Amino acid sequence: MTFARNHFEFIVLILACVASILPVSDAGAADRPNIVLIFTDDHAFQAISAYGEGRKLLETPNIDRLAKQGMRFDRAVVPNSICGPSRACVLTGKYNHKNGFYDNTYSVFDGSQPTFPKMLQAAGYRTGLFGKWHLVSDPTGFDEWHILPGQGDYYNPDMIKNGTRMRHEGYVTDLVTDFALDWVGSGDKSKPFLLMLQHKAPHRDWQPALRHLGHDKDRKYPEPATLFDDYSGRGPAVADQDMTIEKTMTPGDLKLVTPRRLNAEQKADWEAYYGPRNTEFEKANLTGKDLVRWKYNRYMHDYLGTIKAVDESVGRVLDYLDANGMSKNTLVVYAADQGFYLGEHGWFDKRWIFEESLRTPMLAQWPGKIAHGTTTPDLVSVIDFAPTFLSAAGVSVPGDIQGRSLLPIFEGKKPADWRKAFYYHYYEYPLPHRVRRHYGVVTDRYKLVHFYAPDVDYWELYDREKDPAELKNMLGQTGYEQVEKDLRAELGRLRTELEVPKDDAGYEAMIRQRQRDRPAAKKKAAPRAAE
Ligand code: CA
Repeated sequence: MTFARNHFEFIVLILACVASILPVSDAGAADRPNIVLIFTDDHAFQAISAYGEGRKLLETPNIDRLAKQGMRFDRAVVPNSICGPSRACVLTGKYNHKNGFYDNTYSVFDGSQPTFPKMLQAAGYRTGLFGKWHLVSDPTGFDEWHILPGQGDYYNPDMIKNGTRMRHEGYVTDLVTDFALDWVGSGDKSKPFLLMLQHKAPHRDWQPALRHLGHDKDRKYPEPATLFDDYSGRGPAVADQDMTIEKTMTPGDLKLVTPRRLNAEQKADWEAYYGPRNTEFEKANLTGKDLVRWKYNRYMHDYLGTIKAVDESVGRVLDYLDANGMSKNTLVVYAADQGFYLGEHGWFDKRWIFEESLRTPMLAQWPGKIAHGTTTPDLVSVIDFAPTFLSAAGVSVPGDIQGRSLLPIFEGKKPADWRKAFYYHYYEYPLPHRVRRHYGVVTDRYKLVHFYAPDVDYWELYDREKDPAELKNMLGQTGYEQVEKDLRAELGRLRTELEVPKDDAGYEAMIRQRQRDRPAAKKKAAPRAAE
């Protein structure tokens, strides 16, 4: 008996050893998928080669793998084109007037409200958050969180791990990927996991990894047709913004000053690239359009440079999932918190209901659920992530969630009652870029927008089929009477359905309360901090 029992235990031991060295299987997770959301900050769809549109600014072979192995969403939009508010919509599946996070200046995320990570955690998922958070309060609903304070730094960043602040040596995109994959590999393999890998890149002020300086071999980038837009044909809100490459970019943005936080070796590498080019620039004494063109090309080198590291990160994650046998049972979604201007209309930044800022890149792979190499024109949003992830995990979606599950869209089966119009609402004014508050309705073809505060009150209507660059307000033009009437009706219907307050009294009250509670909030309104 003793021999038999020992023999049995020996076999069990051998089996356990074999199991521990085999690739991690999805057996323990049953049919509940792992969920990986790779979420970037300000990544323009124009800067992903899978989108294949426009200027062919760079190649992103790893992000493109998601398009080849899954679905590319061609009409993915955001409810509010700015970092914190968009992230609050992702977490809650609700608009900002419901989740209470309206802007980056005064809002603090109420972490006691329901979020999809909390619900997945309660349903037995391991949950981890890495990188950019930007919601002021500490994250809730995560077994492990390791985030950048506020906006964070590109080089040698400070990070906060489960409440403890520490400094790391290295480049932020690489570090965040390291920490995320370490966490995936170190946990209880019997549980499915939710990984939120949220890069700081390519957010202003666009500091590439040192290995990517000169990645474009001093290429002269194709210019957008509207680089020198004069804003005629649209109202005062568009004309009076403060987000142009020409006037708004700072010496720091343009790498005319050496960034802080580099160690001596890194600083030498940085200056070896930028130093001679900056000397040449100063000698050239450029003015007018030539100066704008120089700034645009410097901006493209830097912005796209940060995306090189993001693309490598995506490759590392996909390789990791492949190598560990996890890809088959993992839903991977790539998206950004909003789009971004890469010189269109002379701008950088975001905020507007207009295309480049409204749209976000969105790609997803999930073998067996999403067919390879598919695209969809269906109108989807980051507000749909919460119900999508909950549905994918078999967790019931609370009735007050305002997004909709994308699972039928994944399968190419758009429900008959899928949305044909989307509600948009931007609040933050005046800092940092002087974009007036506005809300509106977006369809495949049209946009109706109301610029309503604080010193403007007028409407605009755009017809993207005839005017893809959105250069001419068609409101009141002959032939658009019925279009306007229909859009106004749809906007009213959406505002009622989404329970949008009739005015901003709730938002204003929150601002006053915050100013009373935290006088320092005024300081936080400094332009650079409030982005
Ligand atoms: Ca952002």
